[in-house]
Amino acid sequence: MNNCTEPVTTLKGIGKETAEHLQALGIETIGDLIWTFPYRHEDFRLKDLAETPHNERVTIEALVESMPSAVFLGKNKQRLTVTVRAGRHLVKVVFFNQNYLRQKLTPGAIITVTGKWDRGRQVIIGSSVTFGPKTEQVDFEPVYSLRGNIQQKRFRKYMRQALDAVDDIVDPLPLLMREDYKLLEVKDALEGVHFPKDANHAKQARRRFVYEELLEFQLRIQALRKARKDSEQGLSIAYDVAKVRAFIETLPYELTNAQKRVVNEISKDLKQPHRMNRLLQGDVGSGKTVVAAIGLYSAVTAGYQGALMAPTEILAEQHAQSLQAWFEPIGVRVGLLSGSTKSKARRILLEQLAAGEIDILIGTHALIQPDVIFKKLGFVITDEQHRFGVEQRRILRDKGENPDVLFMTATPIPRTLAITAFGEMDVSIIDELPAGRKEIETHWMKKEQLGSVLGKMESELKAGRQAYVICPLIEESDKLDVQNAVEAYEHLVQYFHGRFRVGLMHGRLHPDEKDAVMRAFSVGEIDILVSTTVVEVGVNVPNATFMTIYDAERFGLAQLHQLRGRVGRGEHQSYCVLIADPKSDEGKERMMSMTETNDGFRLAEKDLELRGPGDFFGKKQSGLPEFKMADLVHDYRALDVARRDAVRLVEDPAFWHDDEYLPLRNMLEKSGVLEGERID
Ligand code: ADP
Ligand code: MG
Repeated sequence: MNNCTEPVTTLKGIGKETAEHLQALGIETIGDLIWTFPYRHEDFRLKDLAETPHNERVTIEALVESMPSAVFLGKNKQRLTVTVRAGRHLVKVVFFNQNYLRQKLTPGAIITVTGKWDRGRQVIIGSSVTFGPKTEQVDFEPVYSLRGNIQQKRFRKYMRQALDAVDDIVDPLPLLMREDYKLLEVKDALEGVHFPKDANHAKQARRRFVYEELLEFQLRIQALRKARKDSEQGLSIAYDVAKVRAFIETLPYELTNAQKRVVNEISKDLKQPHRMNRLLQGDVGSGKTVVAAIGLYSAVTAGYQGALMAPTEILAEQHAQSLQAWFEPIGVRVGLLSGSTKSKARRILLEQLAAGEIDILIGTHALIQPDVIFKKLGFVITDEQHRFGVEQRRILRDKGENPDVLFMTATPIPRTLAITAFGEMDVSIIDELPAGRKEIETHWMKKEQLGSVLGKMESELKAGRQAYVICPLIEESDKLDVQNAVEAYEHLVQYFHGRFRVGLMHGRLHPDEKDAVMRAFSVGEIDILVSTTVVEVGVNVPNATFMTIYDAERFGLAQLHQLRGRVGRGEHQSYCVLIADPKSDEGKERMMSMTETNDGFRLAEKDLELRGPGDFFGKKQSGLPEFKMADLVHDYRALDVARRDAVRLVEDPAFWHDDEYLPLRNMLEKSGVLEGERID
């Protein structure tokens, strides 16, 4: 008998060379081997062709009806085609480069063939064939992700040996939990993963490991969160309810139900003594600004200062304008600090800030400069949080003594990803737009229809509206981005010559130039703004009602939706035209989704479904853990359950003391959580 910690070389048939190959796969110990899971199972169950979707792998039993015909495609390359009958289907089976089958495939022979089903052409592209009816005992064979010269079959042999040899596998899931959820015991589940008896065995095994993995992951996050709450003394901001209510009364509109709910969640956090660490998600135009303002004002009524940091000067200015309009009349002092604040004004502002004569400071990352000192900072909000680095957010936070922190984002993130990537935060969602908004009409056009798109744009311009033209995104090359934008700009200047004014905006412009262009557009000195994706965030020009996105298939759904959010901000009907000739089905589906809905959360769910969790946040920093079994798109229910259980467990003293939970605690210890490592 062996231990999981012993090297794989203690197994029979694994010498030095094989051990090296295994090591390249990250397998050194017997335990590593056992916990190397297949990425799929080959399904050898017999299927009815009538029920098999196009391009799916299928195994059928069939009677050979014709002599095989061979076509030679080159040296050692041929294609054999044979007609077979499977039940009531007469179909063709094609084999590539398996000429030796030619003698055996004679009319009357019974074969069991596995291959890919081309439904349209009624052909199976055969990959393996056995002669005679299906006799194989196994219905499912695991397929591992292997490299080098280790074949599946040999790998399975080692696996069999390993599973038979070890006797020290402890089930990390307590018996009670397994019984509650009807989960397989760990050894049985390992059998089900590597050597399933049948489909259900494989399924149950997967179910168990998905839960275990998600529970471990959630425990890690929840344990951290608890540690943080226990150790960090936050502020208890006793705001003046009557004043806050009175302020809400002065607004020209009633808050939506979603806004009310979120305001309550934030207020509750402010009052409680732990530090708020909350993410506020709300689609473009859902009204996050006023929610932020109410929160900041609450802090002010309790004698604290508030700060609001935005990623661009334009946004910071917009926020300052809104907040000044609301607050100056009631005596709340709002300041604006950005890179372009003149030095004298800046000095005065900073003095007032330090003296507590400014209540709310709004600005860009200029806020995090060392000489920006607050008297009593209690509440910090970051708008479009993903535009800032962790470090920048931390510096701002450290300008107060454990102030409450709210992050806002207009990029809807599907719930499963939100609780995965931002698991250590509380999440508030504004999932409702103010009443009476006009839906943006979205159309998908082909490149050759550009002429008619420009015609439609012109009629909007003639009616006094403005338009955006967004140029394609060239991944990882803003040089090409710029080139594209310049070309489109020149074309449009020519096209609209003497009739409308065209402006150009891209990432290579100096910040001052960008601001100048943006300003010219917002005051109507420019009619058409040609831009790369730099206009994506928060810009508000209500008179712009028409957006064209070139090569729209290059954008992800989330980004298209963000871009589209630049129109539809005023009283007039708005339009968005996607110009795209997508090649892939996925690309087509993306375009269709955009024309079908304006709901950012639905699009985000769709995006996740189409691209998978890894790509959702973009390649660079997904921040998502890698799971062996769990899949965030499909296992969201399990994730919810695991999260609930993890929250309950970390709060339960028994969890920290009972031996029943020892294996789970060991898992946490291994990942360093219990030593207080922190993610932020
Ligand atoms: P975002 O969430 O994208 O930052 P904003 O805060 O800029 O959205 O709000 C978009 C627009 O909606 C603003 O013009 C704002 O005045 C308006 N608005 C916000 N809340 C409401 C409401 N409850 N009813 C009507 N209009 C609202
Ligand atoms: Mg906003």
